[in-house]
Amino acid sequence: MLPPRGRPHLRRGRPGAQGRSLLWVAILFVSSPEAFKLSAVVNASGGPGRLTVRLRGGGNIISRIDLALRRAMDEAELEDTLTAKPSLGGDREDLRAVREQRMQRLAGGAGSPKTALRDAAPPLRRVDLKSHAYDYDMIVIGGGSGGLAAAKEAASLGARVAVCDFVSPTPMGTEWGLGGTCVNVGCIPKKLMHRAAQLKEALLDAEPYGWGLSSQPEHNWGRMVNSVQDHIASINFGYRSELRSANVTYLNALATFDDEHTVLLTDKKGTKTRATAACFLIAVGGRPKYPDIPGDRECCITSDDLFSLAKPPGRTLVVGASYVALECAGFLTALGYDTSVMMRSIPLRGFDQECAAKVVEHMEEHGTQFIRGCVPTKFERRPSGAVRVTWSKGGAEEGAEHDDFDTVLLAIGRYALTQQLNLEKVGVEVDKRSLKILNPADASATIGDTEQSTSPHIFAVGDVLEGRPELTPVAIKAGQRLAQRLFSTGAGRCMDYDSVATTVFTPIEYACVGWSEEEAEKQLGSDNLEVFHSRYTPLEWAPPSEQATELRAGRHAGSTCFAKVLVARNLDDRVVGIHLVGEHVGEIVQGFALAIKHKISKQDLDDVVGIHPTSAEVLTTLTVTKRSGVELKTAGC
Ligand SMILES: Cc1cc2nc3c(=O)[nH]c(=O)nc-3n(C[C@H](O)[C@H](O)[C@H](O)COP(=O)(O)OP(=O)(O)OC[C@H]3O[C@@H](n4cnc5c(N)ncnc54)[C@H](O)[C@@H]3O)c2cc1C
Repeated sequence: MLPPRGRPHLRRGRPGAQGRSLLWVAILFVSSPEAFKLSAVVNASGGPGRLTVRLRGGGNIISRIDLALRRAMDEAELEDTLTAKPSLGGDREDLRAVREQRMQRLAGGAGSPKTALRDAAPPLRRVDLKSHAYDYDMIVIGGGSGGLAAAKEAASLGARVAVCDFVSPTPMGTEWGLGGTCVNVGCIPKKLMHRAAQLKEALLDAEPYGWGLSSQPEHNWGRMVNSVQDHIASINFGYRSELRSANVTYLNALATFDDEHTVLLTDKKGTKTRATAACFLIAVGGRPKYPDIPGDRECCITSDDLFSLAKPPGRTLVVGASYVALECAGFLTALGYDTSVMMRSIPLRGFDQECAAKVVEHMEEHGTQFIRGCVPTKFERRPSGAVRVTWSKGGAEEGAEHDDFDTVLLAIGRYALTQQLNLEKVGVEVDKRSLKILNPADASATIGDTEQSTSPHIFAVGDVLEGRPELTPVAIKAGQRLAQRLFSTGAGRCMDYDSVATTVFTPIEYACVGWSEEEAEKQLGSDNLEVFHSRYTPLEWAPPSEQATELRAGRHAGSTCFAKVLVARNLDDRVVGIHLVGEHVGEIVQGFALAIKHKISKQDLDDVVGIHPTSAEVLTTLTVTKRSGVELKTAGC
């Protein structure tokens, strides 16, 4: 609600207010367009005008406007703006003044947190590309998903941009090229290996469809790794040439801040140079954590090593219960390696736990072994080359067990690569626990929206930004939008971090958008939450395959595919979560993410006519609620 004294507020119906109101609404619309259903009619001839602002999703209009206004500017500037003579066309003086101030602030570096908030405002902000003497308008530190996207976007808007990217080798000596985690050691190789695993399933399915398989299919690890790495090399090459054609300078060096506008660059040979810029974007991502127990770095690999592993992994222990752990364990099992997962507590923390359990159940049915409630305490290399893993249950020394594995893959989480940036020197604060970059102090209303750090001319996107989903499309979109807000002459849009859809690429995939059931219950209370659910069997699984049934126990049990839709009864039956466990569900949920963004109701979902015969149609026919207690029967075609 409206803050006390001295804060901006909107007085409706006051004579002569329409010009100012139009300016306010313009600011609001570009800063939080998703929040407003807006129609502003002002009589251009100077006569009485009409202003209508409707809020999407309700809420208190005054407080929302007040919030958005304060997002856009600090109080002094707001007062100036409110008392400025309104103008309805051309390049308004008040807006031009704000633009000029912006560059001065960025070029000058220092600024109060309040100024920082003002700088973060999406509209009306623009870096003046000519008024400074730095080498670049922007230096991007980190050439991964977010950094490259921001650099190319900024360059396309006329900015002089450099990208520094440097990969420190893993303890096993693995290195890679330009493009960051996703391309080299993340989404891309992971999805290709998942595909290799799916192909085995498809081969097993082929026989009842009439395909004669003359011999048992055999998998060649080296052949797969070569194909994956060839593809990655082509992407690395493509990225370098894209940067060249976009006129972005690529600096293959480790960057660290030397002063507020200078980075020290150290290349592979240890040669040091310096570069300066008006503003900086930190997009350094993260790297896998090690548990810091004896033998971890000497004996274990991480996802940074797995996708280029020269020899087949053999008997493998995956430590961790993250999506990376389960995805890797899933494809390793399907490719024929004896694979175990050691997890301390729950799988897929933060995801819907009913769906997570189904993923694990399916993996177990397909041969992945789970060692639950255990943590490794040491790793030792055996004369045979195998790794001896000793572990304890629930942290107790007593009853420690051990076993030998050919490969141990650690997937216990990631840490942000901020420690080597010398951030203390430039006033950029990080969260003490996660080491991720924070927004200006006490900016709960704007946190993360602006990608601005506690130093006004230093921004951050991607995995390194505190409290945001660690996903490639998030890093890309945030980077592009930030670049637009910094360098475009027009208004820019803020990144919307809400309702980002995602998929866990385990053997049975799990895709979701919106809240998990646990989160929905926390937010709404169980009385207000209706859970619709169904089990289903894809038609493609129908022809019985003896070989498939034998080799993949449980595959045709019909219980593995699952749909769940969460509905807020107290919000006009709005759909607040969609969850699917099944085949290719990422492709399905991507489309439904749009529906969640547009705040559809369960009735809207029911009004959709399904496409038959598909798995996706299950979402249009959900009638059974959890509350009803009705036993689920497997739906199918
Ligand atoms: C195994 C795995 C699977 C994944 N699967 C998916 C998926 O299916 N879908 C999805 O959306 N996301 C997935 N992710 C997450 C995704 O990869 C990240 O969210 C994304 O790469 C983050 O991009 P970024 O730009 O923040 O950082 P990154 O892509 O990590 O890029 C940062 C770059 O900066 C470099 N760098 C760091 N410090 C410096 C410095 N001081 N100087 C110069 N350069 C520096 C790094 O070496 C790196 O090249 C996966 C991640 C992993 C590990």
